[in-house]
Amino acid sequence: MKPMGPIPPEFAGQQGALTIGGRSADDWVAAHGSPLFVYDPAIVAARVARFRAAMPAAVDLHYAVKANPFPPLLAAVAPLVDGLDVASAGELAKALAVKPGGAISFAGPGKRDAELEAAVRAGATLNVESEGEATRALAIGDRLGIAPRLAVRVNPDVELKGSGMKMGGRASPFGVDAERAAALVRAIRGGGADWRGFHIFAGSQALDAGAIVETQAATLALATRLAAEAGAAPPMLNLGGGFGVPYFAGDVAVDVARIGAALAEALAATDLPGTGFAIELGRWLVAEAGVYLTRVVDRKESRGETFLIVDGGLHHQLAASGNFGTVVRRNYPLAVATRMGEAATEEASVVGCLCTPLDRLGDRVALPHAKVGDVIAIFLAGAYGASASPTAFLGHPAAAEVLAGEG
Ligand SMILES: *Cc1c(COP(=O)(O)O)cnc(C)c1O
Repeated sequence: MKPMGPIPPEFAGQQGALTIGGRSADDWVAAHGSPLFVYDPAIVAARVARFRAAMPAAVDLHYAVKANPFPPLLAAVAPLVDGLDVASAGELAKALAVKPGGAISFAGPGKRDAELEAAVRAGATLNVESEGEATRALAIGDRLGIAPRLAVRVNPDVELKGSGMKMGGRASPFGVDAERAAALVRAIRGGGADWRGFHIFAGSQALDAGAIVETQAATLALATRLAAEAGAAPPMLNLGGGFGVPYFAGDVAVDVARIGAALAEALAATDLPGTGFAIELGRWLVAEAGVYLTRVVDRKESRGETFLIVDGGLHHQLAASGNFGTVVRRNYPLAVATRMGEAATEEASVVGCLCTPLDRLGDRVALPHAKVGDVIAIFLAGAYGASASPTAFLGHPAAAEVLAGEG
């Protein structure tokens, strides 16, 4: 038997039929088919409220759209957050459908001229990733007669790690090395742009509040130093994010109250008058709001092991198979959706329908007995699921997606 991660608290206490947004998993599948992603916006709203309660009021909350760009979910999240962070012209277009350009920032390496132009026209802030990109954005602004809104993404000399912070400037395709950031700020301001400040993102999926607190303090210190070097106070400082979610056995939710208290103290001690602050979060806001539902197609035994073969797989939910940014494959939390709270009676592996041994959604987990036709729920499917999976691989149909509350 191998352990699985903790079922999110909104679902962990349920008995009998799993309900998502007030409706049973079987009902959802009957209405929309299997496999299916269901997202509950009430869970996202609760995460936003937790953030607001914990963080100083001066800190804006941005949603990193790449975590889940499903338009109905984006429309539900947009009014709850202060800004949307995008990383492609496609995401920009989705964001502009639900938020004004002035509340959108666009990061990411390799922005094409057409992408820069779309952002400049929309009045979105471009987080420039290199001197060359800044030069192109300035030229596009000149041509359009619009002062482009440009922030400098800094490749920091700090790195956020799950278990602490690594110092020492690394090479990176993201941002401009901290040593060159002040010179770029001067060039941007001299070039007639509307300089919006700094974007400093040091890492992702951290559960250790202490590591996040240290990284934020180092980020504030770096921004203060760069502002002095550049001779200008940044209008905005995007502090990055990195709040993780508990995917695996032993993981514990990140202590946001502790982060908020430390950040309030750090901001009070920081000398950046007139600067606004933002934290950008993806998975922490949406991962636990999503459940991937997939029906058991076959049940078989092989050399003493039980396999539950489902109609979904890694082509929809790559991350749960352990093939999206994890070194060692570990089990996401999952359950038999009609038997919540029941004691486990067998050990089974939940495998997808793709003809590859990589397609394993649950490896030797303890479950109540599941029959053909039962629905398996895989939790933490709200971030980096449908949009971060190789949907074309093996030619099965895409999974449906639905926002609870929308029928
Ligand atoms: C991907 C990304 C995020 C979101 O990361 P999460 O781990 O989902 O919170 C935030 N900021 C930047 C710059 C990113 O590239």
